[in-house]
Amino acid sequence: MYVTPVSNELLERYNKPGPRYTSYPTVPVWKADFGEDDYRAALRDLAAQTNPIVSLYVHIPFCATRCYYCGCNATVTRREEVVDVYLDRVQHELEMVTESLGKGKRVVQLHWGGGTPNFLTNDQMERLFRMLDDHFAIDRDGELAIEIDPRIGTREQIGFLKQLGFNRISLGVQDFDDFVQEAIGRIQPIDLTREQYYVSRELGFESVNLDMVYGLPFQTAETFEITLQEVINLKPDRIACFSYAHVPWVKSNQKRIDTSKLPDTNTKFQLFQTAIAAFTEAGYDWIGMDHFAQHDDEMAVAVRERRLHRNFMGYTTRPALHMIALGMSGISDLAGRFVQNDHKLGSYQKTLDSGHLPVVRGYHLNEDDRIRRLAITHLMCNLELPFDLTKAEFGVRLDEVAGESLERLEAYIDEGFVEFTPDRLIVTPLGRYFVRNLAMELDAHLEKNSDRPIFSKTI
Ligand code: SF4
Repeated sequence: MYVTPVSNELLERYNKPGPRYTSYPTVPVWKADFGEDDYRAALRDLAAQTNPIVSLYVHIPFCATRCYYCGCNATVTRREEVVDVYLDRVQHELEMVTESLGKGKRVVQLHWGGGTPNFLTNDQMERLFRMLDDHFAIDRDGELAIEIDPRIGTREQIGFLKQLGFNRISLGVQDFDDFVQEAIGRIQPIDLTREQYYVSRELGFESVNLDMVYGLPFQTAETFEITLQEVINLKPDRIACFSYAHVPWVKSNQKRIDTSKLPDTNTKFQLFQTAIAAFTEAGYDWIGMDHFAQHDDEMAVAVRERRLHRNFMGYTTRPALHMIALGMSGISDLAGRFVQNDHKLGSYQKTLDSGHLPVVRGYHLNEDDRIRRLAITHLMCNLELPFDLTKAEFGVRLDEVAGESLERLEAYIDEGFVEFTPDRLIVTPLGRYFVRNLAMELDAHLEKNSDRPIFSKTI
């Protein structure tokens, strides 16, 4: 694929901190006085719907060591019993959630993320899976996904995961280069990753995916190209290629990263473009901002049919499902509310021990929020904005309720980022790199909260 060149001047001007819009409104807007009672009310509202279908996320925060670049909510331990104590609390949370929601709701999407979900022993994984099964009706034909760290995975463990019912697996790779691995505190021999990839294939996982990161110390377009070719040779179904966000004031483990070895903005952008060129030439479709999928993968099909969605788990082909998250730092998205769990292990567990749900903040969306959320999600996933997008669900056209945002977006025509046709806005190949900047024009909360911390830069 021809990779659209981007001038340094444009990069400088638009590479500014902004939300990634995994939610709208974004987390800084959520309210600290949204608490347990509000969450219970959301669960009851969901229960009142006819046959609600849910997506279930479980956060497993444990890791054997802390990688220097890590931006996840993770905690290091080597003790199995710490996990048992955590699973007791997750069970308690599950019981409280289903007290309001009712048992047996159908789950079509299950995701275990972390941390390192495969840090758990087989017994612990079986226990967790069974407790979820006891409270929900998990559809075995749904998307049952788990993230694994190949450094601690084994053939036997991957087989056990398949036996439990998982049909999708994501292996963390980041970069195969030795210098990069040493600089990020994550030594992961390529043969190990290859072996576990092939084991996952052999055992019949429907989807085997790899996660990579660009913008790490010592990465150059030349070295990264070698990693990209190794990844392409494996032929994963999907690849996530995330931008490294260096925020040591938020993630103190990142202080161990030698900043003098980090690529500058231009090199980092070149890394990203190298990935786009390599994957698209190898037959992958570029999805949203930073994902790639085989051309016949359902995610690539969904993009062509303009029906890709996005939630806290990432891109999805399923229309907006209600998501219930369990565990420390989990974020639920149900019945028009966002609900965030405590992100500290100690207080998450303590709150549950005192008989309360560990909610620390949340937000109840009004109609304007829901309209803008639909618009932002559609723009970021499908790179277009039909003006009648909101008509079917809300009875109003987008240009009737967000006319001022669309006017602001017209200013990007001169930059070459968007085109307007009589019925829609279309993001150009150049504008795609700056789709977050475009989405920010639809955000009605951003200005009011401009002093709040927002996340990472565009590139
Ligand atoms: S990157 Fe993954 S394995 Fe490494 S510390 Fe973070 S969550 Fe754990």
